[in-house]
Amino acid sequence: MTDGMARVETCDLAVIGTGPAGMAAAVAAAELGLSVVAVDEQSVPGGQIYRNVLASPVAARLGPDYGHGAALAAAFDAAEGISRRYGTTVWTLSADGEIGLRGERGDIVLLRAKAVILATGALERPMPFPGWTLPGVMTAGSAQILLKSAAVVPADGVVLTGSGPLLYLVAAQLLDIGVRPGAIVETTPGANYRAAARHWRGAAHGAATLLKGLKLIARLRVARVPMVSGATGLSAEAGADGAVARLKYHCGGRERSVACSLLLVHQGVVPNVQISRSLDLPHDWDAAQRCWRPRLGEWGDTALPGIFVAGDGGGIGGALAAEEQGRLAALAAACRLGRIDEQERNRRADAPRRALAHHLAVRPFLDALYRPGDDAVVPADEVVVCRCEEVTAGEIRRCVVDGCVGPNQVKSFIRSGMGPCQGRMCGLTVSEIIAAARGMPVADVGYYRLRQPLKPITLGELAQLEEVAQ
Ligand SMILES: Cc1cc2nc3c(=O)[nH]c(=O)nc-3n(C[C@H](O)[C@H](O)[C@H](O)COP(=O)(O)OP(=O)(O)OC[C@H]3O[C@@H](n4cnc5c(N)ncnc54)[C@H](O)[C@@H]3O)c2cc1C
Repeated sequence: MTDGMARVETCDLAVIGTGPAGMAAAVAAAELGLSVVAVDEQSVPGGQIYRNVLASPVAARLGPDYGHGAALAAAFDAAEGISRRYGTTVWTLSADGEIGLRGERGDIVLLRAKAVILATGALERPMPFPGWTLPGVMTAGSAQILLKSAAVVPADGVVLTGSGPLLYLVAAQLLDIGVRPGAIVETTPGANYRAAARHWRGAAHGAATLLKGLKLIARLRVARVPMVSGATGLSAEAGADGAVARLKYHCGGRERSVACSLLLVHQGVVPNVQISRSLDLPHDWDAAQRCWRPRLGEWGDTALPGIFVAGDGGGIGGALAAEEQGRLAALAAACRLGRIDEQERNRRADAPRRALAHHLAVRPFLDALYRPGDDAVVPADEVVVCRCEEVTAGEIRRCVVDGCVGPNQVKSFIRSGMGPCQGRMCGLTVSEIIAAARGMPVADVGYYRLRQPLKPITLGELAQLEEVAQ
């Protein structure tokens, strides 16, 4: 319980998110003498990829990429000059760096930072298809969260479907933990292979990354996990108990199906733009990755002075790229605050910049290969799109027929995106449906206008600010 009054604190730099980008940024900034507050909703550092890396009971079985995060997290944990706030949610951020924090016990802190690095990472892309809201259907990333944070392992009868490297990684991690998936039903469109081949030069630079992917697939094949590729027209069906019992799909001109008691779905990851959108920063439609990304300069700088973005929140580049982007943003913040001059900033940026270019070289290949097809992002009329408010794709299309031109009008008409997740689960799909229905690019249709608070807080918690305001 709290004493009912918000505290006010100050720091040079606030880092929101302690994944690879945030941890690297905080360590680099603290080394340059900035006072840093690093905040994360999770109870331990690591972000998505390195979740619970210092304490996971199954760490040794999650592969070398996961292990890489242990050194970074240990350095972050040991660094002086960083105040680490776990179990703490950022629910508001103003353009001048005032951040509303909510601790696990509902205590509110107003943090006034001279510079802010948003390192809030990625979210799994929503993947709506008939039956995706049934009990027993969850994202592959959620299964991985349970595995990393609590060693919770699914029983037999797991089927994975969708597209993207994480699908194979999670399947291989399950295998290593003793759970053999019943099938992997892959939806990558056949045309993507030809499109990706055009980026073979980048792929050659990222040979190590590709080799890792091929090894994962080889492991799954050796374990005789049934794999289907080029599936379309997914639908999940319930059994007598109302939970998922079967995945149906089309492949090779025929309808097929596979039994399952747990269906893990995945269609790639997209930048988490909740905070950058709520600041009304300019965002661009990334046609290659079919997602929005904030418009950034070479240091992760945004249109707001002193506010930077690092890591997957600025565009999906993977964990190693995120680390380097964190270091670059920290250098830029230190320069802005007068700790180093531009010459020193540029000198120190040399190594991270080279490493970043190396890690990003493979992206055009991966983006082309795993770009979701229309089938995966524009669902049929009966499919629920906004899970909070139970709005279907058909209802959204009817709004377009009635004259709605963009997501914000649809939101006002039928409440899609107004629930507690604030559009995280439906935002991209709503924009894609409207764009397809109007026959225009998603870039011209736009996205929800997001308003703070970014995450739900209670009136009592909000009232803690009263004393501060007076
Ligand atoms: C579910 C999931 C699982 C993934 N697993 C893997 C994997 O196993 N291997 C792999 O190579 N890639 C994985 N990825 C991709 C991976 O996230 C990135 O490439 C990498 O972690 C990006 O690092 P980052 O520092 O940018 O962000 P992240 O690692 O995502 O860290 C962002 C952090 O910000 C915090 N945060 C966000 N919003 C707030 C807020 N409002 N208040 C407080 N804290 C906040 C989050 O809790 C999170 O810890 C996964 C992605 C997802 C979505």
